[in-house]
Amino acid sequence: MTFSKSTPHALTSGVFATIEDVKTFIRFLAENGCQGFECSKDTLRIVNSWGRKEAFASETLDAIRRELGDCRRCRLSEKRKNIVFGAGDPHARLMFVGEGPGYDEDQTGEPFVGAAGGLLTKIIDAINHTRKQVYICNIIKCRPPGNRNPMSDEIDTCFPFLKRQIASVKPDFICALGTFAAQTLLETKSPISKLRGSFYDYMGAKVLPTYHPAYLLRNPDKKRDVWEDMKKLMKAMGV
Ligand code: URA
Repeated sequence: MTFSKSTPHALTSGVFATIEDVKTFIRFLAENGCQGFECSKDTLRIVNSWGRKEAFASETLDAIRRELGDCRRCRLSEKRKNIVFGAGDPHARLMFVGEGPGYDEDQTGEPFVGAAGGLLTKIIDAINHTRKQVYICNIIKCRPPGNRNPMSDEIDTCFPFLKRQIASVKPDFICALGTFAAQTLLETKSPISKLRGSFYDYMGAKVLPTYHPAYLLRNPDKKRDVWEDMKKLMKAMGV
């Protein structure tokens, strides 16, 4: 059975009531001496998807990628080698959003694979995740020539695709990496030093801004702040 916007409220609320019933039943089993039951990776994936993710998914990431095609919607397409769409679990609980592809990402079509990417991988590892378990993407999908800052019309053209990716993945948490990602997602001009370390609501997710890994490479003393932010993230995620 699939659920859509037109699914009657009575039916979706019935699903949530069923989930509550299952929880009550599991508590009952535990209180009566049940020591465990089959809990393979596959089973966990299914249980984790109950009440959110797959059951309510709108469009798939593949469909969004297909529509993007060999995008020529803005001038960044002229100099780019590859579109960097995003990578990771299409139903991840946690999404990382960076600024835009750099040289290495443009060469490979994969987000965060250069030096900053190496540090992001370590951060993901430190919060007990793998790159495959999270979803990694950027505000813009093509490398600006010479890594200049993206222009507002380029962001306006590209951002709707990121919003659709967020709507498809339905992450519970988004970690906004750096000034540009945080300010764009949260529609603010506040500096990252003020925004970081707090949670903000965006498209049903909790957004946690923190410093960009490239900034950390230049300012290693700020790694301590990022670790504080990651501890907050783990606590909120129940990791
Ligand atoms: N910096 C970003 O913001 N994104 C990438 O994908 C790589 C470097």
